[in-house]
Amino acid sequence: QLRVRFAPSPTGYLHIGGARTALFNYLLAQKEQGCFVLRIEDTDVARSTQESVDAILQAMSWLGLSCDEGPYYQSERFDLYRSKVDQLLASGKAYRCYCTPEELEAKRKLAEQEKRKPKYDGTCRDREDAPVDRPYVVRFCAPQEGATTFNDRIKGPITFQHAELDDLIIQRTDGTPTYNFVVVIDDAEMGINLVIRGDDHINNTPRQILLYQALGYEVPEFAHVPMILGSDQKRLSKRHGATSVMAYRDLGYLPEAMVNYLVRLGWSFGDEEIFSMEDLVEKFSLDNVGRSAGVFNPEKLLWLNAHYIKTGDPQRLGELLKEYLAAQGINCDGGPSIEEVVKSLQERCKTMVEMAEQAAWYYHSEVEFDPKASAKFLTEAQQPVFAATLEQLAGLDDWQEGSIEAALGKVMESTGLKFGKIAQPLRVALTGGTVSPSICLVMAVMGKEMALARIERAAG
Ligand code: GLU
Repeated sequence: QLRVRFAPSPTGYLHIGGARTALFNYLLAQKEQGCFVLRIEDTDVARSTQESVDAILQAMSWLGLSCDEGPYYQSERFDLYRSKVDQLLASGKAYRCYCTPEELEAKRKLAEQEKRKPKYDGTCRDREDAPVDRPYVVRFCAPQEGATTFNDRIKGPITFQHAELDDLIIQRTDGTPTYNFVVVIDDAEMGINLVIRGDDHINNTPRQILLYQALGYEVPEFAHVPMILGSDQKRLSKRHGATSVMAYRDLGYLPEAMVNYLVRLGWSFGDEEIFSMEDLVEKFSLDNVGRSAGVFNPEKLLWLNAHYIKTGDPQRLGELLKEYLAAQGINCDGGPSIEEVVKSLQERCKTMVEMAEQAAWYYHSEVEFDPKASAKFLTEAQQPVFAATLEQLAGLDDWQEGSIEAALGKVMESTGLKFGKIAQPLRVALTGGTVSPSICLVMAVMGKEMALARIERAAG
């Protein structure tokens, strides 16, 4: 059975790159009926926060990436890690290093002067005396000769010469274990057989493979996913806009648009662009993950979002719209049907925030007039339009877009005005501004009572 994992460090929010890694893991586990494990890598106690754990879990749940096992917390597993340090010390595959930071710094400077790659020189490898009462780190005794090769599922075969590898610190002076060490123990103990992660970790992989071997574990397969870049080909960062997944929710993006967007950052399936989660579970595979970096393209994300809003289920979008309206301080209770409001706007809006802005006037108890619009369209000159409209609509019982349109046809006849001359003042009366869906639709959605009250108010 395939066992994969997502292993975020809770030192911040879930960013675009992390979310894509989580998604790839999730999809493959779903597709192959494997197990998706979530592991919180919180050994760095100083930088890890509960707030960040919560933020990551919230973002994963928003995207629909549920795990099959976990979350496990590394901070609860220190005993296991300590026993593994002892195992390596006892077998001579690790050693205590008493070199002080000053000594190491001096060696590093010397290497710099001599233009050598800085690397721990192994002073404590064969040290006979064990200075009592001096702080030490534990280092892994890495082989000096030969090479390690692995066959990356995305990048192909990769070889590292052991001569390039340092004697990795596996336990710090304060007794806490380091990332490269615990990640190996956990992946092995949790039975992970395929590690999918960002290729910023590719240099760690040979070190980790040597640790697997030293600890007597089976080495898993690896798939390193290329980085995500901004449009300037630099690594994606805040300079390129929001990088937190949840920031996109706040900006009015739908999770299905985000998932669709994320998966296409590095994976393709012919010319297809639109993928639901179900499609992806069926179609996703590592074979179609590209080897080069994906470029973050906000316009494409927006385009996908508009697609999912346009084609979304009005009832569900209505529930979401209520939340976005609430964020603007607008309560929808007692107002027009939220579903009908969504239907009147979903063709026109690219984000839910935009939809909330355009829906706000449906729920204001009094229309807030845009001063320019009211100066132009709510004057003496328009009074005959309002009067004629009220007359036609007052007796209309069949309150629907079509019959409202027919009634406005009669207003055109009686006033001798073209539709535009009628529609624009009515639009301002009904919505406060000059941009909205068709006013017949707007009135239908509002209901007769609200529509007439608003026109009466404009009529003075
Ligand atoms: N905690 C590591 C990170 O957030 C995980 C690396 C890995 O997947 O091995 O980068």
